[in-house]
Formats: sequence, C-alpha cells, structure tokens
Amino acid sequence: AHLDRIAHVDGDLNAFLHVSSEEALATAADVDSRRAAGEELGPLAGVPIAVKDVVVTKGLPTTAGSKILEGWIPPYDATLVERIKAAGLPILGKTNMDEFAMGSSTEHSAYGNTKNPWDLERIPGGSGGGSAAAVAAHEAPLAIGTDTGGSIRQPGAVTGTVGVKPTYGGVSRYGLIAMASSLDQAGPVTRTVLDAALLHELIGGHDPHDSTSIAEPLPALAEAARQGATGDLSGLRVGVVKELSGEGYQDGVSARFTESLDTLRSLGAQVVEVSCPHFTYALDAYYLIMPAEASSNLAKFDGMRFGLRIEPADGPVTAERVMAATRGTGFGDEVKRRVILGTYALSAGYYDAYYGSAQKVRTLVQRDFAAAFAQADVLVSPTAPTTAFKFGEKLDDPLAMYLNDVATIPANLAGVPGMSVPNGLSDGLPVGFQILAPAKADDRMYRVGAALE
Ligand code: GLN
Repeated sequence: AHLDRIAHVDGDLNAFLHVSSEEALATAADVDSRRAAGEELGPLAGVPIAVKDVVVTKGLPTTAGSKILEGWIPPYDATLVERIKAAGLPILGKTNMDEFAMGSSTEHSAYGNTKNPWDLERIPGGSGGGSAAAVAAHEAPLAIGTDTGGSIRQPGAVTGTVGVKPTYGGVSRYGLIAMASSLDQAGPVTRTVLDAALLHELIGGHDPHDSTSIAEPLPALAEAARQGATGDLSGLRVGVVKELSGEGYQDGVSARFTESLDTLRSLGAQVVEVSCPHFTYALDAYYLIMPAEASSNLAKFDGMRFGLRIEPADGPVTAERVMAATRGTGFGDEVKRRVILGTYALSAGYYDAYYGSAQKVRTLVQRDFAAAFAQADVLVSPTAPTTAFKFGEKLDDPLAMYLNDVATIPANLAGVPGMSVPNGLSDGLPVGFQILAPAKADDRMYRVGAALE
C-alpha cells in the first residue's frame, strides 16, 4: 500500500531519491513467513520505513543530496539501519534532503525540491524535508532523520509530523555521513509520539562502533509515551524559555504556543518562565562550529575515494587539480559557502577569535540549560519561528534561512534531546511545539508530547 501511495503522489512531492520496492517487498514477505512459523517479532516488524539519504545503506544508493556522491553504493549499513533490518522493517527507500544536511528548506538538494504536502508551493523544512514530507503524505508511516541544528524538528513542525532529536550519543552515528560530528544525531520522524518512542527504542542504545555512544540503556520511552497519553501531568514543571518566543515569531505560531501552555496547565503541569540569556548567541556559535567541523568532515570527498571524479579539461592531472575540479563541480553553493566559512574559522590567526569564542559560547549555552533544568523538568518553545515559507523566499538570503533554526540549535550545542509535536494550524499550515529535556531524560519529552496529542 505504501509503495502504491509513493507511486501515486511522489511525482508531485519528490520526497524520495530512491525507492527500493524489491527489497521492501522481500522483507515484508520474510516477516510474514517468520510470523507464520510462530516466531516472536518486535512491535514494528513489518512496518515500512523511509531513511534519509545521509544514512548509509548497504546496496542502496546513498547521495546525501549531493552530486559528488551520485552513483555511490555503500558497502555497509549504518548501525541504525542494521537494527531496522534485524527488526524486520521494510525499507521503502531513501529520502531527499539539503545537500550534506545543510539547509532548512530542502532547496539545497542537488536533486530538486521536495514539496510540502500541505501546500505544494511551500517548503517541507530542512534538511530532512524528504522524510517529513513522506510521513506527512502517508507515503511512509515511519522515517529516519538526522538533526545537527534542527533538521528533524523543524521539518516536523512545518509538515505537522512528530520529530525527535535524541540525546547526543543516544543513537549511534556509525554510518551517518557526518556533517558536524559533535552535533549530529539521528532520530525518528513519525505521525504519533508513541510511534516515535517505539522507533527510538529500536534504533537507540549503545554501539561500540561510535565512540560517543552512551554506554547505558535508554530510558523507557514507549512507557513514558503511554503514561503521557493518560493526560495526567500533575507535578511536572514546564519551563517556558523567555528567549525562544515573542519577537520574531509569527503571530499564529505564538498563539498556538500559548494555547498549548494552557493545555499543559489544565493537565496539571506547573508552567514557569525561565531565562537562558546565552541562547541569543547560540545561532552565531553554531554557524562557526558547524561549518568548522563540516569543512573537515567533507575533506574526504576528493574525487579519489567515493563517487564523482572529474579530471581537469586540460593541463596536468595532479591530485590537487583533480580534487579542485571534482569539488568545484560536485559541491553546490551552500556546501562551498560553509566549507569556506569553516576553513576560515579554523585558520591560523583566526582560530581563537572565531572557533575558540564559539566553543566558549557553547559552554555558556550548556550552563544556561543546567540552570534552567534546575527550575523545570522540561523546557518548551515554538519549534520554528514561522510556518512553511514559499520556495525561493529565503534562497538568496543565507542569514534569513539560518534564522529558522534559532529555537532548535541550542539543544544541539548542549547535546540535550528535543522533540517537535504538531501544535495545530496557522492560516491552514502546521505549527510545531518543541519540548526539550535534560540529557538522558528523553522519556520526559515523550510523556509531555503524548499528553499534548
Ligand atoms: N538548518 C540547519 C543548517 O542548515 C540544520 C541542519 C541540520 O540539522 N542538519 O545547518
């Protein structure tokens, strides 16, 4: 049914870069026969899933939305893909994204825009617009995204889906094509909070292949979602982050947010205001740290090891000239912009002023979180300042595009988990409500998210 749905609507949406019908049907058949033979399978066995194209999948093309990886077929599976396969979830295909996960609208994909199913003239968010659109359009009931600065949560907000960025280290990064290693986290994109919890439990937990993976069991996420669904939040302290609302947020976004605060109060939660003064600088720090790490991570795309290789049209074929020709052609403008920003921020003489200062701000953001979590069990804000904007609206203005991430970035800098849940509509377009919890307390956001559903 989902493959039929993809065949029916994806011509308009372009959520998928590759559809793996044969493999999906084979997995579904295998699950059927294992069930028929009496095997006990997990709760998601047989439930199809779409995977963002920045996650490597053995035997299935993986491009990260870039021309530089066109035609590359990974020789191994990411840990989360291994777990998905072992649990019997048919993989429907790979979803569209901003090139190397750099963007907030999926307009930076080298393979065309993904449309927002709510309004085909609007963006589905980014960088994981393909995964969010696929779930919103019922092409897939579950999807995987990655979130370095908001790429799961912001697409969730503008497509009316649930998006979760787990605690840093909660889901293995082994087999994610790295953007900024100290910020990247993979997580679930779903239509319900319980679905997200079940998927998170499936893909999460310790992995020896990722040195930053937390060597402890995950909290009980599905149980927390079921508990939240009873609608009782008595005793819970909810902190409204003063710096993440008000000015700069669309009226409809603010109105829906305020209504949900009333809902939380009516469920027994105590709503307090907290201040995180350094969040004001989080965006600036992110746009130094992220490009710095990305410029280093992307150095491996050199025309020798993976995908595209272009030799200079004339003159000697030296390694340096092949690299320049390949990267010049294979990378899009946004990727080049960030590689230049990143190498500049890391260069001798500027390192302390830019990268060094940004790391100090990062520490201050972490301290703000620690202070706020002393006053509240969870923190909340709108997920994104606006609803889905129109194609082209921010494409020529990188700063306006970057400002979309203002509410999601602090969580990545601090490594804490964040979730976006649907929060009604504004002028017919979905709005997102963000819930943040302390590191390793992801269960708290599932409880609150399910209570709001
Ligand atoms: N939109 C942000 C950026 O462009 C976040 C990207 C992400 O989370 N992968 O960097």
